[in-house]
Amino acid sequence: MATEQKLSFAVRQHPGPVAAATRDELLANPGFGKIFTDHMVVIRYSTARGWHDAEVKPRGPIEIDPACAVLHYAQEIFEGLKAYRLPDGGVSLFRPEANARRFADSARRLAMPEMPVEMFLDSIRELVAADRDWIPTIEGGSLYLRPFMFASETFLGVKPANEYLFMVIASPAGAYFKGDSPAVSLWVSDDYSRAGPGGTGAAKCGGNYAASLLPQSQAIAEGCDQVVFLDAAEHRWVEELGGMNIFFVFDDGSISTPPLGGTILPGITRDSLLTLARDAGIVVREERYSIDEWQADAKSGRLREAFACGTAAVVTSIGSVRGTSVDFRIGNGGQGLLTEKFRAQLTAIQRGHAPDQHDWVMRLS
Ligand SMILES: *Cc1c(COP(=O)(O)O)cnc(C)c1O
Repeated sequence: MATEQKLSFAVRQHPGPVAAATRDELLANPGFGKIFTDHMVVIRYSTARGWHDAEVKPRGPIEIDPACAVLHYAQEIFEGLKAYRLPDGGVSLFRPEANARRFADSARRLAMPEMPVEMFLDSIRELVAADRDWIPTIEGGSLYLRPFMFASETFLGVKPANEYLFMVIASPAGAYFKGDSPAVSLWVSDDYSRAGPGGTGAAKCGGNYAASLLPQSQAIAEGCDQVVFLDAAEHRWVEELGGMNIFFVFDDGSISTPPLGGTILPGITRDSLLTLARDAGIVVREERYSIDEWQADAKSGRLREAFACGTAAVVTSIGSVRGTSVDFRIGNGGQGLLTEKFRAQLTAIQRGHAPDQHDWVMRLS
């Protein structure tokens, strides 16, 4: 399905972009996912024509037919990555090829066309070039980029669509947590799983998120910040949060994370931390860890820290875990030392404050 076409982008500048003074005001306190830049990328796909009509244009609503396939059968995938302002004023991305490859993997699973890696990267470069003034300069700030694709065909038949819309929008983001990131509390879902064997757990698709919202609401109702999911088959093995992978830190200095295998989203933050840990000589295991072991180890002190990780919040300590059959605190319930070290190390590489030994940083300008 992948076509190796090279597209050129028609660029239409916004005729009335947000005024610089207003933009600077917004960028001083952008929050997350609330404000958007002036432009967007659109690329169309049809079975007959392949990828075509690549554009950068003023951001705005799109019109779709009520019979648009995605509204009925949820053929939709997305990505999330950030553009950073470098100390010398340049702009960088962190491992964007990994997002491009994962986007193609997600597409394959959802029976959608696989966008060539270079086309995905070009779309990101084009939008960042058009909206580079929207990258916040505040501490911890970044421009969050959201590429996504959906079945745009007007057709109610149940089959892979023949037409798709790929888009990229951008949203300035502040530090996910203000000041010191607090440790989060987790609720263990007893009733629901995020993904099952053979399902779409490894694909970054909207449907996975839709299914996680009810258990996430239960977590909030129970007074916790986030839901943590166990495996669907035995309801015993810790998998991940609704949108973040999970790590455990032990008293012998080793760390572990649940193994990928179809039900866990292969996070780029997860992979980067595994690499940084191995570089540091830390013993790293990708192995199953049960909720009962987790509770026993937290209580005995064998488990020192646990953290969640992903592009949006980077690295976040887990302070406590509760469910119908477990209730425990991790360490002193606050931030973990190694967790904070990982967070500082990763953000320093991403922002050009530390050497990039793995060629992870792509400089755009
Ligand atoms: C996106 C996502 C992650 C984190 O992936 P990163 O590439 O590190 O941002 C983890 N779990 C789920 C379910 C996700 O959708």
